[in-house]
Amino acid sequence: MDVTYNDSATTNACKLCTPLGASLVFKGVRGSVPLMHGSQGCATYIRRYLISHFREPVDIASSNFSEDTAIFGGGDNLKQAITNVTRQYKPELVGISTTCLSETIGDDVGLILKEFKAEQSGGCLPEIVHVSTPSYRGTHMDGFHDAVAALLHALASSRGGNNGCINILPGMVSPADMRHIREIVEDFDTGCLMLPDYSETLDGMLWATYQKIPDGGIGIDEIREMGGARATIDMSRVCSEKRSGAQVLKARCNIPAHRTGLPLGVKACDRFFSTLSALTRRDVPKKYTRQRGRLLDAFVDGHKYISGKRAVVYAEEDLVVGLAAFLCEIGIIPVVCASGGTSGHLREVLEQTLPGNLKEEIRIIEEADFQDIEEAAMEASPDLFIGNSKGYSITRKLGIPLIRVGFPIHDRFGGQRSLHVGYRGTQQLFDNIVNAVLEARQTTSDVGYSYM
Ligand code: SF4
Repeated sequence: MDVTYNDSATTNACKLCTPLGASLVFKGVRGSVPLMHGSQGCATYIRRYLISHFREPVDIASSNFSEDTAIFGGGDNLKQAITNVTRQYKPELVGISTTCLSETIGDDVGLILKEFKAEQSGGCLPEIVHVSTPSYRGTHMDGFHDAVAALLHALASSRGGNNGCINILPGMVSPADMRHIREIVEDFDTGCLMLPDYSETLDGMLWATYQKIPDGGIGIDEIREMGGARATIDMSRVCSEKRSGAQVLKARCNIPAHRTGLPLGVKACDRFFSTLSALTRRDVPKKYTRQRGRLLDAFVDGHKYISGKRAVVYAEEDLVVGLAAFLCEIGIIPVVCASGGTSGHLREVLEQTLPGNLKEEIRIIEEADFQDIEEAAMEASPDLFIGNSKGYSITRKLGIPLIRVGFPIHDRFGGQRSLHVGYRGTQQLFDNIVNAVLEARQTTSDVGYSYM
């Protein structure tokens, strides 16, 4: 169940830049502008990546380092950038993440912000939240989790008392996933405080006029209220306790934490729904028992097409865990489970989750790059890949289908509307997988079957 390569360099990383994850979290806060402390190029790269997946305008400000700043420090640039953003956007919150350059030269952002606030005393400033995101030490998921924890550290408070809501930390799921998770929680007649929530800011309606800051996101007041919720459901199982937002809420505000994992696949959805049911003391609404029943019926109908197929799965670590467990449920062997993630918990969580009888057949690659994935795939003879667009060139060489999930989806339309979670999202994914297998059979057949 192990693959070890001795490469000293990464070839085509299976991870993204750390401040990208932090910027995504700040895009999920109402009235917020992400600001990167470093070079303009870092903000441009992240904007390009987000825009071509979400197909929405994405403003990310930059403190715009020059050669001088790189030598003498970027404090003045950062103060100027906050002043400019405050004047032009009138944000409620500025979310600052650092880049490799500002981290390498050792800028003390905490101290710079303290000086800035003292200099501005009497002026009306937005909330300013800072997260340290050196990309050479982590991945986009580290930036994501650290930004969630930083927002909770800065804002969450138990002063308002118990509000009966349920906190959801969904991790890096799609806007469609976020909308569906909220729908499920609210169907239990309970308020849902979701951090982050970019379901509208990164998948909004057509505008009549340009909005500098798109509508949507969790409000600052709502992040404060997360400190008075009845419980937190954390959908990450691999995030370490020390960087988990759920632990911040537990330590500061005594909010119980439940780690359900992503509700993807029947078992994981059952775990999520029974957690909600126990927390709210309500039965699972009939709408979802029907969705579950239809999903099981589809499993029976589709089994003859996919049973025994072999899949390579690569994504963020929590998505790999969710996908691999789901594939085992439907009779597909996840022969390679790979992630560029560096939590150090992927193997442990997969070993707890996957059936013991498949252990010898499954290769787990932590801190993977796409060279590792290609080499493992060549040995494993898979029938399909499941992951983001970055695996396309490998599947093209192998002549097998790629089922696109997660982020980034740059070579298809509608990645932001892909639903992965809940019985409904699992159903969509299942249909996509069965259809991809059927299409591959049809395409490679000498006979033009139109009835499979
Ligand atoms: S230099 Fe660092 S922060 Fe900037 S884009 Fe590259 S990895 Fe990201």
